[in-house]
Amino acid sequence: MKKREIKIFVDFDGTITLQDIGEAIFNKFGDAQRVDKIITNLLEDRISSKQCWDELCDCAGAVNPDELVDFVNTMEIDQSFISFNEFCSENNLEIIVLSDGFDFYIDKMFVKYKLEGLKYYSNNLKVEVNGRLSAGYPHYDADSPTSANCKRNHIINHSSDEDYTVYIGDGNSDKEAAQYCDFIFAKKDLARFCSMERISFYPFNDFNDVQNKLVELMNKKNLRKRHQAQLKRRSAYLAE
Ligand SMILES: [Mg+2]
Repeated sequence: MKKREIKIFVDFDGTITLQDIGEAIFNKFGDAQRVDKIITNLLEDRISSKQCWDELCDCAGAVNPDELVDFVNTMEIDQSFISFNEFCSENNLEIIVLSDGFDFYIDKMFVKYKLEGLKYYSNNLKVEVNGRLSAGYPHYDADSPTSANCKRNHIINHSSDEDYTVYIGDGNSDKEAAQYCDFIFAKKDLARFCSMERISFYPFNDFNDVQNKLVELMNKKNLRKRHQAQLKRRSAYLAE
């Protein structure tokens, strides 16, 4: 039988980064009141994530690409992610970053912090010649309205039923995906959601907390998979 592996899925904005960069871009370049309204509509399930990004791109108007790049380069990641990433590669734990944000700034942040080797999936963002922002959704699935990049599908495609899956996230786009994983590390909105839905999770502040808990879990003789996550996976297969 294939050896059980631990697969780690990590959200990007607000989890690896200190700020939600996608939101920060639209707050900076869009009309703040409209941005606020669009994001509220998303969080209250009135629009999908894809609709949200399309409306935000629309409200940003024409953007100067150099200003956008300079702005992105002021953003920072949580430094504890650097040592966590090293810990994972030393222990052969695969990290896959799942972002409902955009390649445009993820690439820049990976270069800034020398994380270029990390595998990630996200939506696409480009600045058109007229300065308008346009978003693309190569991993869209209509069954997942809360994340335009269907995180659940990446989890299923990158893990077997035997693997132990770990999810680390903080927000709206993680709510569905996290439920497919055995061990959930949650903060902010995702933690509130898991508490309300009675989904077991580990609260965390930074990646040192995650690393300490993972070491503890890896040392357990009988590490158990989460039954509800197994049921979720099964129902996803049946729906295909
Ligand atoms: Mg996030």
